[in-house]
Amino acid sequence: MTSEYKIKVLNMGSVTVDKGGMTRGTDCGTELRIPQQAVAIEGNNLKIICDTGVHSVDWVNANVSTVKDCVLKDDESLEGALKHIGWKPEEVDYVINTHLHYDHCGGNYIFKGYKTKFVIQKKEWDFAFNPTPNQEQYYMTDLFNHKAVFPDQILLIDGEIELEDGIVLIPTPGHTKGHQSVLINTEEGVVCFAADASNIYENIDKDIIGNILYDTYSGFKSMEDIRRKAEFIICGHEPRTEKYQTNNFMRIHV
Ligand SMILES: [Zn+2]
Repeated sequence: MTSEYKIKVLNMGSVTVDKGGMTRGTDCGTELRIPQQAVAIEGNNLKIICDTGVHSVDWVNANVSTVKDCVLKDDESLEGALKHIGWKPEEVDYVINTHLHYDHCGGNYIFKGYKTKFVIQKKEWDFAFNPTPNQEQYYMTDLFNHKAVFPDQILLIDGEIELEDGIVLIPTPGHTKGHQSVLINTEEGVVCFAADASNIYENIDKDIIGNILYDTYSGFKSMEDIRRKAEFIICGHEPRTEKYQTNNFMRIHV
């Protein structure tokens, strides 16, 4: 990997959850306010967005049993966040969806008809249309299917790929069947946007898995894989990671 990229963390709103839902067996009943985080990556003449947040606060508050009090500030919709960092939707080359839960693809539609390609693991795509019963409430197919974007914008991949020089996608199943994480080469080293393969830092740091799971075994293996391949991590929902943070990401201890 030779190209180096710059990263900016975007906050796609926040919700209150039971922390025990993310750290199985510990802190059950403890409320935690968590952000929903996405990242903007720039370099090598490319603009890339990983995950796109929620589409509607009201929908989340009415339909998702494991979160409450979803709030989006002005710069926490994807459109608002892009405006804040000076990007136009039509400039974005890739959207990488780590997985297709409602809080990671709610803004996909804003790129409809542009050059943007959506990079999704095929296993995730198939699972999203036919999830296990415990995950049905997290998938809303109209957020990512051919109504949201044009079919030729969707790039289904199978397994690990180097999407561009210095940007590698690795399968990190467990939370869902086709979850993937993004390895980004930066001047500080390799940063992994792990999304919900490690909801918060404590997951990867203490080897604790969350409750929303497709497969426990692969969930642990995926965290092991991330530890091996990256030096820093950006989690999907870590409160200590700051909005618009660009460096000094949390270091992974092996
Ligand atoms: Zn998820």
